[in-house]
Amino acid sequence: MHLRLDERPFSTVPPAVANGAYQPVSFWQETVDVTPGVPLAEDLDCDVVIAGGGYTGLSVAYHLKQQKPDLDIVILERSVVGHGASGRNGGFAMPLIGWDLYHAASALGEETAGAAYRLMYQAVDHLKQVVAEHQIACDLEATGYILINTCTAREKRARRELELAHRLGFDHTWLDRDALQDYIRCDQYRSGVLDPHPCIINPAKLARGLKAVVEGMGVRIYEQTSINEIVDGAPVQVRTPGGIVRGTQAVLALNGFSGALGFMKSRILPVHTYIVLTEPLSDAQLEAIGWAKHRASLETARNFIHYFRLTADNRIAFGGEDAELYPGGSFRNEDPGIFEALKARFRQYFPTLRDLQFTHAWGGTLGVSVDMFPTFGQGGSAKNIFHACAYAGHGVSLSNYAGAILAPEMLRAAGHNAEAHPGKPFFYNRIPFWLPPDPLRYLGMRGYRALLRAHDRIQGA
Ligand SMILES: Cc1cc2nc3c(=O)[nH]c(=O)nc-3n(C[C@H](O)[C@H](O)[C@H](O)COP(=O)(O)OP(=O)(O)OC[C@H]3O[C@@H](n4cnc5c(N)ncnc54)[C@H](O)[C@@H]3O)c2cc1C
Repeated sequence: MHLRLDERPFSTVPPAVANGAYQPVSFWQETVDVTPGVPLAEDLDCDVVIAGGGYTGLSVAYHLKQQKPDLDIVILERSVVGHGASGRNGGFAMPLIGWDLYHAASALGEETAGAAYRLMYQAVDHLKQVVAEHQIACDLEATGYILINTCTAREKRARRELELAHRLGFDHTWLDRDALQDYIRCDQYRSGVLDPHPCIINPAKLARGLKAVVEGMGVRIYEQTSINEIVDGAPVQVRTPGGIVRGTQAVLALNGFSGALGFMKSRILPVHTYIVLTEPLSDAQLEAIGWAKHRASLETARNFIHYFRLTADNRIAFGGEDAELYPGGSFRNEDPGIFEALKARFRQYFPTLRDLQFTHAWGGTLGVSVDMFPTFGQGGSAKNIFHACAYAGHGVSLSNYAGAILAPEMLRAAGHNAEAHPGKPFFYNRIPFWLPPDPLRYLGMRGYRALLRAHDRIQGA
């Protein structure tokens, strides 16, 4: 494995640091104080070098240090920790894997799908535990989550999925129109399925809080340090403009940015999703739409979902509606067309809030495989390069659990004693489907996207 950075996809986004100051993209990133760390300026040797300072990289560092405190670990981050999806997401920590449970069971069989969802619930609980144990002030709210049906076709599918969930032992509850009114009021919402376990967080506060935790454990983090090249071998050499880091092992924690470094370029797509944010709602406005009592996080059941939630200061973050892959796999922080479509949809759902102002709008890059399942694993000629990525739009819980799965594998591979994670997940050493290069990939995905949109329209979702 010899990976080389392609800078071109980054040319469509501004640098994260200008004149020494951090340039936030999301509302969440504005809520944290960030002093950009100094770039790497020397050659280093270490036990483990981690590429990428999002939840995945932080989680692997955290679990390695917990199990073997004397390991020397270095994280290299191109921008600042939490500048990627980990500082921009909707903040839903939930058990979703693949399109949904029904799809997972069709693709993997009920037993494997059940095991995968149990693992995801462990991931949600684990995140709550880490936040509580280290007192990370990230506005965590255990709100639960409702998947809302807006059409009969989705309602039928949701009923079948609920039966499956019960068969597999999950405690989801059907909410008919009346019961749903207790959580949210909108004429187009027919019914929903409540899952009481998911929670919401302020994603940037979580990322920066985790950074402080792992630094406290002795992990060295170099921000403003872009990896240009990774040269396979023992040790692995990770090359940056300011120096080379030689690691006995390396971890690729780059998710949507993996392809730009040449990793699984033809298998993981850099897809973008977007969020618009309102000004804070008054108590009366919240009461009018029935959201004041439970504050549950919400999603509509469609191919192109809407995900929406309240912030700690009672703004509504409203995301989804569309998802974009851009030519050449380039990265974006914004898409004015999708922002307008999101605002129009918001006003359609909540006409009584039509005068509410939108104060922020942003987006970010996800790693997506064709079947929406993640990939974790081990590779390289010396079997010392590990990866975890392709979480699609639901990586908050799993990326924060990545270390629980990878760390024991890494420690055992390095000859240390470590108890393996109980039950290797089905996506360990899974190689996602191959896709042809651009322009075929871009055109193919446009066609697929048009089909999914047409399907949503036909269903009236
Ligand atoms: C708008 C949006 C909404 C989302 N909403 C949700 C949600 O509500 N719930 C949910 O579960 N998931 C959601 N997600 C997905 C979730 O945020 C991601 O799955 C998760 O954050 C992935 O974390 P990560 O650490 O793997 O990747 P990232 O956070 O993207 O971290 C990768 C890091 O690698 C760095 N990097 C890239 N190239 C290089 C290089 N060459 N050298 C060094 N560093 C490099 C990047 O700067 C970045 O910091 C959302 C994502 C977006 C964008």
